[in-house]
Amino acid sequence: MLDNLCWICLDKNTKMYRIDDTYLRQAYDAITSKHDMLDMSVYTCYMCTWFLNKCHKLMTQALKAQDIMKQYLETKFC
Ligand SMILES: [Zn+2]
Repeated sequence: MLDNLCWICLDKNTKMYRIDDTYLRQAYDAITSKHDMLDMSVYTCYMCTWFLNKCHKLMTQALKAQDIMKQYLETKFC
């Protein structure tokens, strides 16, 4: 039953993608902060999969920017 229901928008009338073992699962876990459901497979519809992909790219970009800012601050104050 849970494999035909989007875990983000609860849509059930479209194709679902199992995002376990993908970088999208990392974004899903970061958004939901739900660590008690790690053993369950997560399914998302095509639209939420697209949003998760964008979220993952934003997270990656923010981490790169944070590294650059840390290096800048270290050189500025050392
Ligand atoms: Zn969805």
